[in-house]
Amino acid sequence: MNETIKILTEIAYMVSAVTFILGLKMLSKPTTAIKGNIISGLGMCLAIAVTLFNPVVESYEWIIIGGLIGSIIGAIAAIKVPMTSMPGFVAFFNGTGGLASMLVGWSDFHVTYTGKGYGSYSLENIVLILATYLAMLIGGVTFSGSMIAYGKLEEKIQGKPILFNGQQLVNAIVLGLGILIGILFFMGPNSSFVYPAIILLMVLANILGILVTIPIGGADMPVVICLLNSYSGMAACASGFVLNNTVLIVAGSLVGASGIILTAIMCKAMNRSLANVLFSGFGSSEGAVSTSVTGEVKALSPEDAYFVLEAARSVVFVPGYGMAVAQAQHVVKELADLLEKNGAEVRYAIHPVAGRMPGHMNVLLAEANVPYDQLLEMDDINPIIDTVDVCIVVGANDVVNPSAREDPKSAIYGMPIINVDYAKTCFVLKRSLASGFSGVENPLFFKENTRMIFGDAKQTLTAIINQFKEAQE
Ligand code: NDP
Repeated sequence: MNETIKILTEIAYMVSAVTFILGLKMLSKPTTAIKGNIISGLGMCLAIAVTLFNPVVESYEWIIIGGLIGSIIGAIAAIKVPMTSMPGFVAFFNGTGGLASMLVGWSDFHVTYTGKGYGSYSLENIVLILATYLAMLIGGVTFSGSMIAYGKLEEKIQGKPILFNGQQLVNAIVLGLGILIGILFFMGPNSSFVYPAIILLMVLANILGILVTIPIGGADMPVVICLLNSYSGMAACASGFVLNNTVLIVAGSLVGASGIILTAIMCKAMNRSLANVLFSGFGSSEGAVSTSVTGEVKALSPEDAYFVLEAARSVVFVPGYGMAVAQAQHVVKELADLLEKNGAEVRYAIHPVAGRMPGHMNVLLAEANVPYDQLLEMDDINPIIDTVDVCIVVGANDVVNPSAREDPKSAIYGMPIINVDYAKTCFVLKRSLASGFSGVENPLFFKENTRMIFGDAKQTLTAIINQFKEAQE
């Protein structure tokens, strides 16, 4: 009977693993993303159900208490947290995954050490020792690192890089001690010093997570979250080996791999190496270098902008972080509807790192019901951008900064950008001439065909919409 249950469990886990892979594939396109999410969610339900009905589960009370607490926190967060806080909450939940893996490692260690002990160096035991150690080490780093990322993104702690003398040395010593404990654990898993050493390992792992995250600027946190996300996957994978649970190993590997791929995509889109993100303190204003930009700025009122837009046949919105700050996505859509009604073709050009997390702009525009087929990626809009009558830059800055193309001295030189300056006319909606996240000045503001419309993006767009409405009356 037990053998049959085991086989059925493994088959169910296999089905779950297939739904995770299918779901991930479907998440890569907006049109299939919702379905992908549901399919993976159902797969996860199946995996949980099968695990709960496993005869090894002796009592349900703690599982029910834990499940209830987790579900209540998750549901409240999902309903209450505003879209602008999503990057922070992704970090928070990521951290809880790391904590869970660390505690799985700890609990298995405690039960084995105080019970039957680790026994001989069989392959099974070697894997168990290694996996227990890695689940605690990587889980601890992920937990504390993600909490710092959450604090920085939610501005609960200072967003600027925190640097001190000898930082790398301190990091190396903490990591070295962690590795030493791993060696001692492996060499004498049942020795009397191992129990306190493992507690010290968890403390060190959490200190390491804090130390490696504080030198990174708040605005680089999304890259760090992707990396920590990958770590949390690896920790989950390790805890899968600890628990001998196939679906946890598969799911952990998928998270680990996809996190690292996303990290690489983001670094590429910013033309920065991972080492530059992790160690350069980028985003602190001292870091920015570029040729100083001067020239004449041509400001435009929303009323005059209306006249230009009224005559435009093709308009492209280019959103950036400022659109998220202003929460201007709904008015962007409202203006787009009016422009379409007026006979213009409207599209949206999305830079891969516009905003502060991958897909930030896509999520906001989807919230405003912008049709997916109007969203163009940078590589699709750039070849045809010179045919566009008006590009409306809504709170974007670095991702449309021509110095990335033109100025070899610029700190962002080589970063692919949306070439809004090649459009016939370019409106830039922002509050001042201030630089963006990179701290690099933007020559776009001084270009011949650029018109600056100063002010909060939402207010500016509302003023233009009012002009359209007045003209229609
Ligand atoms: P930027 O941070 O370069 O610029 C945003 C601009 O928005 C600011 O210059 C600001 O100008 C303007 N702004 C702020 N509030 C408002 C408002 N209420 N109304 C109108 N404008 C406003 O944003 P981008 O999206 O162009 O670039 C993203 C940057 O973040 C890139 O450097 C990218 O590398 C980096 N990054 C992105 C990640 C991602 O995953 N997306 C991850 C890590 C880094 P002003 O103050 O004058 O209004």
